[in-house]
Amino acid sequence: MPYKPDLFPQIIQSISTVIEGNAEQVTALDQAIGDGDHVTNLQRGLQALVEQGDEISQLNWPDAFRKIGMTVMSTVGGASGSLYGTLLIALSKAIDQNNFADAFAQGVEAVQQRGKAGRGEKTMLDVLIPVSDYLQQATAQGVNMPELLDGVKQVAINGMESTRDMTATKGRASYLGERSKGHIDAGAKTSQLMICAIADIFDNQSAPPA
Ligand code: ADP
Ligand code: MG
Repeated sequence: MPYKPDLFPQIIQSISTVIEGNAEQVTALDQAIGDGDHVTNLQRGLQALVEQGDEISQLNWPDAFRKIGMTVMSTVGGASGSLYGTLLIALSKAIDQNNFADAFAQGVEAVQQRGKAGRGEKTMLDVLIPVSDYLQQATAQGVNMPELLDGVKQVAINGMESTRDMTATKGRASYLGERSKGHIDAGAKTSQLMICAIADIFDNQSAPPA
């Protein structure tokens, strides 16, 4: 891949800002159907990544994703730490030989295997799977970058919203069964926020992400 990941510090910063800005809302979601720690879990990882930002921006793509993934694994904790870490490490293995859409799809596939979950179970996967499918489709069709980024954001928002009426069958929220209905899943919300923050950064750039 020709570019160095020099946008990473900006991406990390921007994700930190959006998680901070939505901390209360997301914590309330995780309190409603989980244990309320999702935001603090993520913030612990983001703090570590902010400190590593300059170092990460000097690496090649596979090493950058691997470093981020290892940091997420070792700092975030909770179900989300291991799942987001799994996504990033799978992405690091795939990014050299694939376009971004295919590498991301392999990352999302690894999350499904790790969490033994699929679409419709009221988790982050209800955002990640449709976004991945859309990315692959749009990439194959040669959709232009502004349209692709808009599409990604819309698909992420729709996926996040779709979790509201689902019954959780994976993770802590599944302990509530039917009573999990009526609340958006916290991990779906943070996935959507992060994906939209990243899309906004690329929207302001002329260079494509991969
Ligand atoms: P914990 O549930 O261990 O407290 P977090 O609160 O950090 O961890 O993360 C919870 C989020 O993780 C959920 O909102 C959901 O999106 C996601 N999640 C939990 N279990 C799974 C799973 N098996 N597959 C995919 N995502 C999951
Ligand atoms: Mg939790």
